[in-house]
Amino acid sequence: MGLIEASHSQAAMMLSTDPLSLSEIVENGLCIGCGLCRSIAGPGAVEMVMTPEGRERPVANQALDRSTLMRINAVCPGTRIAGPPPAQASNAALTDTVWGPAERLVLGRAGDPTVRFVGSGGGVLTALGQFLLNSGRVKFVLHVAASHSQPMRSERRLSFDAASVLEGAGSRYGPAATLTDFGDILDRGEPFALIAKPCDITAVRNLARLDPRVNDLMRYALAFVCGGASDLSKSEQALQRFGLGEDELRLFRYRGHGNPGLNRIQTSDGRSFELTYRQLWEDEDKWMIQPRCKICPDAIGQVADIAVHDAWLNGGPAVEDEPLNGIIVRTRRGLELFDAAVEAGALEIKRETSIAEISELQSHQVRKRRAVWARLKGMAIAGKPIPFVTDLALEDCAAQNSLAENLAEGRGARDRARRGRLGEPPAVPRERKAAHHVEAMSVLKDELI
Ligand SMILES: Cc1cc2nc3c(=O)[nH]c(=O)nc-3n(C[C@H](O)[C@H](O)[C@H](O)COP(=O)(O)OP(=O)(O)OC[C@H]3O[C@@H](n4cnc5c(N)ncnc54)[C@H](O)[C@@H]3O)c2cc1C
Ligand code: SF4
Ligand code: SF4
Repeated sequence: MGLIEASHSQAAMMLSTDPLSLSEIVENGLCIGCGLCRSIAGPGAVEMVMTPEGRERPVANQALDRSTLMRINAVCPGTRIAGPPPAQASNAALTDTVWGPAERLVLGRAGDPTVRFVGSGGGVLTALGQFLLNSGRVKFVLHVAASHSQPMRSERRLSFDAASVLEGAGSRYGPAATLTDFGDILDRGEPFALIAKPCDITAVRNLARLDPRVNDLMRYALAFVCGGASDLSKSEQALQRFGLGEDELRLFRYRGHGNPGLNRIQTSDGRSFELTYRQLWEDEDKWMIQPRCKICPDAIGQVADIAVHDAWLNGGPAVEDEPLNGIIVRTRRGLELFDAAVEAGALEIKRETSIAEISELQSHQVRKRRAVWARLKGMAIAGKPIPFVTDLALEDCAAQNSLAENLAEGRGARDRARRGRLGEPPAVPRERKAAHHVEAMSVLKDELI
């Protein structure tokens, strides 16, 4: 048992020590902006703001009492990250140190040609969301979609019909606070499915330990395998290439309408601009991936019932590939859903796949799984708080590296943490920063005169 991977009882003990404040979670680079803390504390107590860096972050409007902070620390995916229950892993059809438990590994796509065209890869998540609604298994799907008023931004969406699920199809690479009013969603008392990032699902599974309504009402949790959420500033750079401002936009689509499809931008006055997937992501230094993502112990959705990924069979997207996804069916509940969706024609299977093949298709995920244990150790040695991680075999993944590789990861993280490079500035809303800037400039002008 390592320092970082604790048992459930150890984790409970550790959580009973002083909880981190919201600003400590944010400033130590642990927040991904899911919004669940706002839902726990109440919108009057915590608001989500868009920071100057382009991240959605919580800001407490008032001092939060200890019991609220304890609750937040117990659910926040920056402080508490639990893998699937050990019994699930030991009873699974197959299990792998890096990839975790799976009942089935398949390459496939949506059965409906429109869904597989509009969807991000092959439209599998959208097809599953629609199937869940059409078959009456759930009343609504919680996922995200482009904001109607600010189409470059993403908002949580409740979809009650197939058309609305389709409207949310496609990957939204910027910030997305999926869980900002999750308490209100539970208050509806209706069965639902969640389609989201693995960290969003981690947060909800954490909450399930405190609130029995989660397991009663959330019938399915579906994830995509996630390389990291970028800052909104990444999307703003795309606009700058064309000399556009955000207020001119009518549409901002990252991908989809093909696999991967184009980053398509339309203005209200009818102009259109496009970037290919490669153009958008060509320079890794400019991906602007949020700090929490660099230490993500479960970007591969071990906590989901089904996790879906890209399947570019030639190592990366060609100009346009056939519509296709990799599908990791993780739980028995996921398997029953998958089989029913195939039976109903909502999904089509191309062929079975394997751990070896998905490791090749998602080699960046394999590298990250093997690196996270040493990165967290490095942060801890630098005196930074780190999340409590359980049941994710991080140390076993690290054991697949050489000692030299682990030392390099650990020392690199330690040094970056000491220099403050793994943290974030205090969360302030963009406008306030701009106001501060104006105020500072006027003081400076006065002094210069
Ligand atoms: C930030 C990000 C990083 C990704 N990194 C990888 C990766 O490393 N490897 C990989 O194989 N695939 C990655 N993907 C997933 C990939 O782009 C496809 O979304 C995935 O393969 C599912 O394809 P699909 O055709 O089934 O999706 P679709 O049918 O288009 O459905 C996508 C669903 O995801 C939801 N969604 C989209 N963006 C977000 C978001 N930011 N937060 C919460 N929910 C969202 C939508 O609401 C929609 O319901 C990433 C996606 C995102 C958004
Ligand atoms: S990760 Fe989510 S719960 Fe944790 S601080 Fe950020 S917004 Fe709040
Ligand atoms: S990499 Fe991890 S923390 Fe980052 S968005 Fe994806 S699932 Fe969340």
